[in-house]
Amino acid sequence: MAERGTSYGERGPLDPEGTVVVVGASLAGLRSAQALRRGGFRGSLTVVGAEPHLPYDRPPLSKQVLSGAWEPAKTQLADRASIDALGVHTLLGHRAVALDVEARSVELDDGGRIDADAVVVATGAIARHPYADQGVRVLRTLDDCIALRESILRAGEGCRVVIIGAGFIGSEVAATCAGLGCSVWVVEMLLVPMAPALGETIGAALGTLHARNGVELLTGVAVRAVERRDDRLVVSLGDRVLEADVVVAGVGVVPETGWLSSSGLTLENGVVCDEALFAADGIVAAGDLARWPFRGALTRIEHWQMAADMGEGAAAALLAGRASASPFVPVPYFWSDQYGMKIQMLGRPDPDDEVVVVDGALDDRFVALYRHGDLLSAAVALSRPRQLMAYRALLEAGGTFDEALALARG
Ligand SMILES: Cc1cc2nc3c(=O)[nH]c(=O)nc-3n(C[C@H](O)[C@H](O)[C@H](O)COP(=O)(O)OP(=O)(O)OC[C@H]3O[C@@H](n4cnc5c(N)ncnc54)[C@H](O)[C@@H]3O)c2cc1C
Repeated sequence: MAERGTSYGERGPLDPEGTVVVVGASLAGLRSAQALRRGGFRGSLTVVGAEPHLPYDRPPLSKQVLSGAWEPAKTQLADRASIDALGVHTLLGHRAVALDVEARSVELDDGGRIDADAVVVATGAIARHPYADQGVRVLRTLDDCIALRESILRAGEGCRVVIIGAGFIGSEVAATCAGLGCSVWVVEMLLVPMAPALGETIGAALGTLHARNGVELLTGVAVRAVERRDDRLVVSLGDRVLEADVVVAGVGVVPETGWLSSSGLTLENGVVCDEALFAADGIVAAGDLARWPFRGALTRIEHWQMAADMGEGAAAALLAGRASASPFVPVPYFWSDQYGMKIQMLGRPDPDDEVVVVDGALDDRFVALYRHGDLLSAAVALSRPRQLMAYRALLEAGGTFDEALALARG
């Protein structure tokens, strides 16, 4: 059990010699631990992780690891030596089961407790898993990825894969499986894939990548049932039945807040935080599970860059103390790799924002801008990375759409 420092004021700066526990040993948790040390925190730092692995990166799971281009070990975000050099005590393969907010005390699944001056909550999200009993797979963890790859290899040449959901994970798995020589179908309930996140114009344009690469995308179609018959899976779609060797559900995630249910923290589609990422005095949240006021609305964003930036932002907030911490105001960014193309977005559009293509064409590589009133709300690109990044400074400064158009005309 770690000793708790005595001089930490509830809303004041973190005692540099005090104690911090980070719950969640992944991207946001690791980044917060690294940023605490960089920011001068010299005290006791413990990171608790439910998975047995050292922190690893998830994006390669649907890309390089699933394809076999990378060994799983290459996903490691930090090796044992660099974690030791950071002076972090890791408790891996241990799940936090409760948090006492007043006492800032974390209870573990083995009955142990860690008392701390401050707690970073970074337990991410878990995949929704329909038809798990029938053998439908999901892809969230390294172990999911290894099991999925094994099942594809076991089915052998011409493996038939049905993906439920044409979001980013489903689309990336489809692209990787197509690259492995599988026959792939993607079943999407929406009429336009990714429309809620990207709007209909861009969602429709990106959806065409599947057909352009030999994958059949069925939109506006709900899965009615999945049944295991011998070594096959039968996916019923109402008027059509698909037979598959492997079925993967990419139907979104749920923030991993179960262990916080008795904590008294506000849990509404994630851990609700203030502008500086405090969920309570001495308790910050970061990553896929954190929901904080962003541009006037409580927002939760499930992207790699957001988890990394939030981990650092949460650490900065603790170091400063709740009374004087700065608001966390990022420019959201994500990327997705599909069929040898790179989709990237900066900013965060409303689905109804007007879209103007300023470079290339929607059936090829392109850059498009989103207009929200007079403002530039986001920029999206398909395999135009340098051109996209030109809009970053403008988005950071809250620039107008006219300024963005002027930049595009260059
Ligand atoms: C397959 C895949 C591909 C992706 N590709 C991209 C991409 O191309 N671009 C992009 O922008 N984003 C991508 N993402 C999203 C990105 O990886 C996530 O946003 C990021 O991992 C979130 O980090 P996190 O630390 O908040 O949560 P997580 O990475 O989910 O980590 C949370 C950790 O907490 C642990 N944990 C949970 N509960 C407990 C508990 N009670 N006690 C202790 N530990 C616990 C979990 O085991 C987990 O290790 C991808 C995600 C996946 C799954």
